[in-house]
Amino acid sequence: MRRGARTTDEGNMHLFRKFISYYKPHRKLFFTDMACSFLVAVCDLFYPMIAKNIINTYVPNRELRMMLVWAAVLLCIYLFKAGLNYVIQYWGHIVGVRMQGDMRHDMFMHLQRLPFSFFDENKTGSIMSRIISDLQDVSELAHHGPEDLFISGIMLVGAFVMLSGINLYLSLIVFAILPFMVLFAWRMRSEMNTAFRKTREEVAEVNANVETAIAGIRVSRSYTAAPHENSKFDRANERFKLARGRAYRAMGMFSSGMALFNDFLYLSVLVAGGLFFYNGKIDTGEFAAFLLYITLFLKPVNRLVSLFEQLQEGMTGFRRFHEIMEVHDEEDTGTVEAESLNGTIDFEDVSFRYLNSDAADQDAKVISHLTMHIERGHTVALVGPSGGGKTTLCNLIPRFYEIDSGRITIDGTDIRELTRYALRKNIGIVQQDVFLFNGTIRENIAYGNLEASEQEIIDAAKKANIHDYVMTLDEGYDTNVGERGIKLSGGQKQRISIARVFLKNPSILILDEATSALDNATEMLIQQSLAELSRGRTCLVVAHRLSTIKNADEIIVLTKDGIAERGTHDELMANHAIYAGLYQYQFRE
Ligand code: ADP
Ligand code: MG
Repeated sequence: MRRGARTTDEGNMHLFRKFISYYKPHRKLFFTDMACSFLVAVCDLFYPMIAKNIINTYVPNRELRMMLVWAAVLLCIYLFKAGLNYVIQYWGHIVGVRMQGDMRHDMFMHLQRLPFSFFDENKTGSIMSRIISDLQDVSELAHHGPEDLFISGIMLVGAFVMLSGINLYLSLIVFAILPFMVLFAWRMRSEMNTAFRKTREEVAEVNANVETAIAGIRVSRSYTAAPHENSKFDRANERFKLARGRAYRAMGMFSSGMALFNDFLYLSVLVAGGLFFYNGKIDTGEFAAFLLYITLFLKPVNRLVSLFEQLQEGMTGFRRFHEIMEVHDEEDTGTVEAESLNGTIDFEDVSFRYLNSDAADQDAKVISHLTMHIERGHTVALVGPSGGGKTTLCNLIPRFYEIDSGRITIDGTDIRELTRYALRKNIGIVQQDVFLFNGTIRENIAYGNLEASEQEIIDAAKKANIHDYVMTLDEGYDTNVGERGIKLSGGQKQRISIARVFLKNPSILILDEATSALDNATEMLIQQSLAELSRGRTCLVVAHRLSTIKNADEIIVLTKDGIAERGTHDELMANHAIYAGLYQYQFRE
């Protein structure tokens, strides 16, 4: 039990240090902000003191001139304070926003490096929620936190010094209530903490729901599944309301408890001060100053109280940010910076299984002891039933997932020894579903090589047989493709993705069912572009239409039990086994 508590404390310390580290780049601004906060706190301490003098001295002695002089002094102090407050409000928030920006930047950079397995497990909407709304709270805490702590600390100490200057015993009585307030706040801490965490999770869930519902709006419309989507959303929304309700209950108890302490303080000052006055220990001016200082004293206390809420909420946000930052990114173990690879690929006794696989049999390997050789410039085709692991195998070559045992080499170098940049620079992939970014056709093709010239982009488009189509568009290459390329047909999208690979010009090409989603006529046309693309490159082709891979140097039939058959088309046909059966079936069609 003790040890557990200690490790969470250590975790909190670590978290706290990480948080502090974000102040570093902005420390100048931050300390300016703090200095202004300090001066504001000091300014506030003048009022009761001056009020006391006016009540006790200037008014009874009818020194009107002195009274006005002090009023003028007070006015100057307030004008000065207004300037300070402006600095605090404006630049303080700027510090917060800049820190938030830094965190968001770090998180985005980190996301770019996280392995695919992370994205297999985490929902887009939920990640978005962490990067956007969670960090908002963190930013609020970042500047209000230290500011409030600082101002309140100064004011508390200042108020105590002033109060005890009037009457020490009375001050001690008042301050004796303070520890109880702190204890109460501490007690409420864990409850608020859990409540806020739960809220954040539910917000993320709602966001994830919205994200998938919008992404899938075309599917749900076609299935007239709007009511289903609505009720799914409502459930998440309901859970959010519930969680938020719980958080507000915790906050309600906390705030009302604190307010009660507040009132109690006023009451005790009135009664105790009254008694002191009654016994002649203090005079009218002192009594008035005391009451005024109590207000001053409660201001920082209340500020600390709201800071406490902010701290809970902000730290929850920061913890969620930190959780993602702690996920290990794809570490670059490799150091070999190969500029261009020849493209001879070897799988040596490779086994792989998905770590977080939901499959009943946790040990089920998707790839088991697979050995294969692809000579540079040759083509190897993978065929087999869906779920056989063809896509998985393709994903292993660019190291999207780490293999469990064996090794994969390119030109004899283990891919783990290459830098990811060098490795991926040399591999082009065309998949069944094409992802286009929201932007112009030019931008989407240029993704293959961000430094490409206009002419190179046009050449690539010509090779992919999309140039003529682009020229029919009013805006040509500047045409926006819509989110995920929604404004283009399947064939057009595929051509753009092929143009992308032409531009990239890799030595290794992976075609994973590149034409499976297309109709026969389009498929035939695209097939020509693909044949053109494959020329002179090492190719790994996954195809369901067997006529397209007849000329492959080797055909591998991959089933759930591993490689069932391998050889050239003629060899496999002569075998009269799986491949021959599949081929004859398709041929008859
Ligand atoms: P194929 O491309 O031959 O149809 P896949 O390689 O896509 O087959 O899938 C092989 C097996 O791995 C399937 O059983 C599938 O459920 C599983 N699988 C595929 N992708 C993932 C993933 N990202 N996480 C967990 N399991 C996966
Ligand atoms: Mg597949």
